[in-house]
Amino acid sequence: MIDTYGRQITYLRLSVTELCNLRCRYCMPEDGVCKKRHEEMLTQEEMIMAIRAAAALGIRKLRITGGEPLVKSNIVELCRAAAAVDGIEEICLTTNGTLLPKLAAPLREAGVRRLNISLDTLDAEKFHYITRIGTLGDALAGIEAALAAGFEKVKINSVLIGGFNDDEIPVLAALTRQYPVDVRFIELMPMYDSGDFGPEAYIPYTAVLDKLPELEPVDPDGGVAKLYRLPDAKGNIGLISPVSAHFCAACNRIRLTADGKIKPCLHSGDEYSLKGLDYEGMVKELQKAILCKPSWHGVLDAENRSHAGRNMNQIGG
Ligand code: SAM
Repeated sequence: MIDTYGRQITYLRLSVTELCNLRCRYCMPEDGVCKKRHEEMLTQEEMIMAIRAAAALGIRKLRITGGEPLVKSNIVELCRAAAAVDGIEEICLTTNGTLLPKLAAPLREAGVRRLNISLDTLDAEKFHYITRIGTLGDALAGIEAALAAGFEKVKINSVLIGGFNDDEIPVLAALTRQYPVDVRFIELMPMYDSGDFGPEAYIPYTAVLDKLPELEPVDPDGGVAKLYRLPDAKGNIGLISPVSAHFCAACNRIRLTADGKIKPCLHSGDEYSLKGLDYEGMVKELQKAILCKPSWHGVLDAENRSHAGRNMNQIGG
């Protein structure tokens, strides 16, 4: 489908759960999420029906996200069923990596082609601080497991946080020399009630270029990241700038939350519910949502917070 601003919508991000086994400070509150009633959440059958309806409207790429998608007990079966949907050409998954030692091989076998693994620091104490409860070794074991399982692409996502990990830009980038991975630095987005970050935390992607003058530009690959490479690296460095240089004009995505709400824009409160609808109803609601996708997400910075109305763990990133 083409939206009212001429953008072809081909990419669905499906959040399969709001729950997470970490509590990242910029993503969700310390006490986790207020668990919703089972009846409020999409069932696995509804998720697959929604993917079918979206594929019928031209969705070709699916990203499974959360919360932490790997805490969902039937995640492998869900990915397998999603991979079998006609029209879906690529399934990717975003994870904090900590459960990959057990799940990387089954997910690959179920048809997941690419993995994004979140990792904001290589310092064990800082990892525990930013995730509130996590252990760095678990995330690193997850990266090793992902590489061993033979995914087509593994990307490491680091949220840039001024005063927290800007000193680690060189060591995080150096992962592209150690492993065949891309490392992507993502600007911190000011979500609903996430985090106690002051203005100094919101640093632009250009901080990476300042710290790494040896980066060489790489041709764009059709994604939203500006691409670079360190000399002799095995993977690219991607810079994603939703705050300082938004890419809304090229946005080809919609999101579906675990409680069944289509969000045509990450930072808008507008939502279209698929919960309880049949296939035809889902197709109609998806069409309505796509035609109401706004032209851009508006100003975002420390003063102008997201209007998403939810934290990132309830949307999927
Ligand atoms: N649990 C999985 C994970 O850790 O990757 C998937 C869900 S998480 C919400 C998806 C991505 O959103 C992660 O890479 C995370 O770092 C990113 N994210 C969450 N809150 C963010 C924020 N306020 N600004 C920028 N990125 C954020």
